[in-house]
Amino acid sequence: MKKTLVVFMWVLLIPLTAFAESKEIKPVKIADEVYVYDAGMYLSMFMVTKEGVIVIEPVSSAHSKGMLKAIRSVTDKPIRYLLISHNHWDHANGGQVFRDAGATIVAHVEAYEWMKANPHDDLALPDESWAGLRKDIVLGGRTVELHYMGMNHGLGMTVFRLPKEKMIYVADLVAPKRVLFAIAPDFNIKEWTRSLNQIEMMDFDLAVYSHNASGKPTGSKKDVTETIAFINDLQAAIFAEFKKGTPFTEVPAAVKLPKYKDWAMYDQWLHLNVWRIMLDGHMGSFPWRPPHAYEGHE
Ligand SMILES: [Zn+2]
Repeated sequence: MKKTLVVFMWVLLIPLTAFAESKEIKPVKIADEVYVYDAGMYLSMFMVTKEGVIVIEPVSSAHSKGMLKAIRSVTDKPIRYLLISHNHWDHANGGQVFRDAGATIVAHVEAYEWMKANPHDDLALPDESWAGLRKDIVLGGRTVELHYMGMNHGLGMTVFRLPKEKMIYVADLVAPKRVLFAIAPDFNIKEWTRSLNQIEMMDFDLAVYSHNASGKPTGSKKDVTETIAFINDLQAAIFAEFKKGTPFTEVPAAVKLPKYKDWAMYDQWLHLNVWRIMLDGHMGSFPWRPPHAYEGHE
């Protein structure tokens, strides 16, 4: 019995190891010394400066180890900063890999407090937190702006802008060519659309999105505009069903948005998106917190 199990495990492990070894992801250069690490489900970004490397989004230890390898394929400069977009484990985990490589881990205080209260085996608590709406990190003559826009998704959600490169990094708020994520967990719909309008007004040409179903490692402002339009169209379609007299519980199956039928997860998630938007309209905006809970002070 034991022998059978051992043999079975070996059979399973050999192809897995081979797969892991063959899966070395090369960084994609998108601007002067700026690279995307595209692991498929999650995309991170890093910038190499004269004085070291700034990394955005660790995701997990496995993701971070792969990204560190990718960074080492283009530079041997020290890793100086790891910046985290927001509190959620699936974005904030893995930081220890970069701390071990010398990085200072930075997150907004709202995200930091949540991480402290909600530990995870793979989560390294940031070394520095910041409060307020804006912080700049300057290293080796390069700047990364950290923009906090209040409530939208999760806690401490930070949009990063590279002013010289006219580029932004956005986690979760925009996922090009994909419907909303399942039941849109931890998204305040009203505040989300307000934030999207604010992002749309930012000065940038190129964008890296943590999730991107377009098949490309980068996107543009058009993806922000399309996300706003999708949410508006979804709300309008729900409202149209109410007007027709479709019973509440039948609305999710009734709503169709053929314009977006080629977007990723349309068949699987559209009805879940509808449930979330309907419940938001039914119960009132959630999650919510008063501004003094997150605006803090510089
Ligand atoms: Zn999230």
